[in-house]
Amino acid sequence: MSYRIKRDQGFPGVYWAIRRRRRELATKNLTPGFRSYDERVVRARGVEYRIWSPDRSKPAAGIVKGMKNFSIAPKSKVLYLGIASGTTASHFSDILGHQGVIYGIDPAERVMRDLIRVVRGRGNIVPILASARVPCDYVGMLEEVDAVYADVAQPDQVQMLIDNSNIFLKRGGIAMIAVKASSIDVTRPPKEIYAMARRRLQENGYGVLETIELSPHDRKHAIVVAKKRRP
Ligand code: SAM
Repeated sequence: MSYRIKRDQGFPGVYWAIRRRRRELATKNLTPGFRSYDERVVRARGVEYRIWSPDRSKPAAGIVKGMKNFSIAPKSKVLYLGIASGTTASHFSDILGHQGVIYGIDPAERVMRDLIRVVRGRGNIVPILASARVPCDYVGMLEEVDAVYADVAQPDQVQMLIDNSNIFLKRGGIAMIAVKASSIDVTRPPKEIYAMARRRLQENGYGVLETIELSPHDRKHAIVVAKKRRP
């Protein structure tokens, strides 16, 4: 199948794979010949791209839904809370390239074992078996980062983002969270939970830039993007 590839105008390292009238989000495979999960792979002019499905990855859904402040770019340093087996992280890794790095935190040994398969050959993901509730456990392993992304599906998910961003995020850096409303309170409407997340970020010195609800790709989440204002 022949595809045409177009760079995304706003986000370096993000592409659109176009065939007939259909366009799909894609990233350039940092490990050609190797798939990180069961993603589709397409080739154009001898280059391999991995389709980044909005139904499998929340930031992909955010971009497809018009997110304006995606902070993952070539050479960035990223702290990823809840990296799991690396589905989304593998696309971040494609975007960052060899000069960027992802520090990936997750306390679940089973998903970390799967992540090791993805990490091999990429050279820009540092897996850290730890809980994002206890950043002092990995403080010595990290440097200052350009962006923090949290996707932990826990009741204290916003606090984990704030605690980690307070320590590791540079001033002016981007804190981004996939808020799972039902993990915080199943009885309240999701919009209230997203508003609460924004309030907590603002109270802690973060300027909220946008909220993107991920429906229909993911009906349970919104991505909230904020900028760190304090040093
Ligand atoms: N972000 C992943 C992706 O898109 O490929 C999916 C993440 S999954 C929804 C949530 C992950 O958060 C799980 O792997 C879980 O082990 C992790 N998690 C749960 N509690 C955590 C904590 N305290 N610190 C860091 N990660 C945590």
